[in-house]
Amino acid sequence: MITIALSKGRIFEETTPLLAAAGIQALEDPESSRKLILPTNREDVRLVIVRATDVPTYVQYGAADIGIAGKDVLDEHGGEGLYQPLDLNIARCKMMVAVRDDFDYEASIRQGARLKVVTKYVKTAREHFAAKGMHVDLIKLYGSMELGPLVGLADAIVDLVSTGGTLRANKLKAVEEIGAISSRLVVNQASYKVNRPLLQPIIDSFAGAVRKD
Ligand code: ATP
Ligand code: MG
Repeated sequence: MITIALSKGRIFEETTPLLAAAGIQALEDPESSRKLILPTNREDVRLVIVRATDVPTYVQYGAADIGIAGKDVLDEHGGEGLYQPLDLNIARCKMMVAVRDDFDYEASIRQGARLKVVTKYVKTAREHFAAKGMHVDLIKLYGSMELGPLVGLADAIVDLVSTGGTLRANKLKAVEEIGAISSRLVVNQASYKVNRPLLQPIIDSFAGAVRKD
């Protein structure tokens, strides 16, 4: 039995065509089902529905054989115990630094100001600012980072941006790109060795179905 760890929402939606290419179809919709373990049309494959940030953990410890997680989440996790054979080119966005519309980011850097930054991506942010030689105070949040600069909690945010609509709606502007983000296939290294006859065809089907744009 192969267990695939997935999160609901965007990743599940964009993964459905990839699963179909591997002949795998969920028998229930995770958005409406309360089940956390979803059977599929294949008796040897099941899905477990977990928080996006928990996907690498399930796979690392072998509770799931494979999973699909954003590069954002994998960078924070560190990738220990995970084989990452494939960029699935889904859930694409950018990790950005953003500030209030009326905040002069470049000037405050020139002046050597010590910025306060809110983010859910503490490791990514720490590494980014360290590489720039900037001293920042990082404040961990679990959501709605955009609020931080509006209420004086922070000068800047580090968060994912796709269209920029949320930034604009909150009078924020992106000032720096940290990197491109997409979702990756992750495989438990031990499981890959033992279950390769079952896993390799699934991985190959995913690879064949990846959009190349
Ligand atoms: P929640 O938003 O319910 O707190 P979450 O943020 O963990 O949960 P999603 O928002 O579904 O879950 O994000 C899951 C993954 O999708 C992220 O780890 C990231 O890789 C990707 N993602 C997040 N936001 C965007 C976006 N705006 N555009 C494209 N991909 C995104
Ligand atoms: Mg989210």
